[in-house]
Amino acid sequence: MHIRKRCAVTGGAGFLGSHLCERLLNDGHDVLCVDNFYTGSKRNIVHLLENPYFELFRHDITYPLYIEVDEIFNLACPASPIHYQTDPVQTTKVNVHGSINMLGLAKRVKAKIMQASTSEVYGDPKVHPQKESYWGHVNPVGPRSCYDEGKRCAETLFFDYHRQHGLRIKVARIFNTYGPRMHPNDGRVVSNFIVQALRDEPITIYGEGKQTRSFCYVDDLIEGFVRLMNSPEGFTGPVNLGNPGEFTIMELATKVREMTGSKSELVFKPLPQDDPVMRQPDISLAREVLGWEPRVVLDEGLRKTIDYFDDLLRSGDRPD
Ligand code: NAD
Ligand code: UDP
Repeated sequence: MHIRKRCAVTGGAGFLGSHLCERLLNDGHDVLCVDNFYTGSKRNIVHLLENPYFELFRHDITYPLYIEVDEIFNLACPASPIHYQTDPVQTTKVNVHGSINMLGLAKRVKAKIMQASTSEVYGDPKVHPQKESYWGHVNPVGPRSCYDEGKRCAETLFFDYHRQHGLRIKVARIFNTYGPRMHPNDGRVVSNFIVQALRDEPITIYGEGKQTRSFCYVDDLIEGFVRLMNSPEGFTGPVNLGNPGEFTIMELATKVREMTGSKSELVFKPLPQDDPVMRQPDISLAREVLGWEPRVVLDEGLRKTIDYFDDLLRSGDRPD
């Protein structure tokens, strides 16, 4: 029998949040999207506004929220280095104060709550690939710390609410994810390279491009979120969600240039401070407990993402 659940998605107007809202509606649930539009946009969810089971609430989760829901997906937080470093104090606040507010809400209404954590909790890792048991190598006082330490503290809060108050928690450690609805100016590598290539502008490689990342297509990640939320009662995570396929940034640039047929030249810019040298998820835990693994290979995901940005740039619509 289908049970219609009331789900809140904080950060629901962002890249991942909007895909999650759509998926939950398609699965027959009530969705409350909570977002202050810091990096998210109405454009991402405008197609959902007509759906009577979808509600949009403009709200900053660093302030308390009083609603009645069964499940909370806590995604609110800028994800791209450019955005999370613009107002670093707010970045720590959304992770710490925001998580406390959402955990307090979950406690009051006895909701299950999932945290969108990150591979950044591993910092610049000395263990490769990264397993959930690795404690990480994180600079506490650098330009990425507001995000990395904010997310680490959020994980601590989730586990303390679980131990102290018996909250039902799920913690996902998300590795670099890409796809349609990334903001064209949000500075992350996949959107940057595709937009630059489509405009025949120089493709900006930071450092020598030898650093690696593992790129997961958004549909695969959202499937992981849903499986995690529905996983057995005692399973809390943290669990890595990402695609183990590992590529250098130079390989990504070359691939994007080829696939777009672009005339862009490759230019080298300084490597940002504390930029992790390598990153690849060990997803054995997700395979074992969630029966989950990514299905979309990089070429296929890039094709869909390139088509999305191509349409967006041709439409001449200014992203808001
Ligand atoms: P995004 O920037 O597109 O979305 C974040 C959303 O949160 C935006 O809609 C923004 O307006 C909203 N938001 C920010 N501060 C808020 C606040 N105080 N109150 C309410 N809403 C607020 O980023 P995304 O890629 O969709 O990431 C979503 C979540 O997943 C983030 O928590 C991010 O840290 C995490 N994550 C993403 C990735 C990735 O590769 N996309 C990787 C690791 C972790
Ligand atoms: N990067 C790059 N050119 C860009 C944007 C990013 O070479 O225009 C590099 C960046 O230095 C990092 C990697 O691509 O090594 C991934 O960056 P992103 O901001 O997408 O995410 P991160 O994994 O660093 O949080």
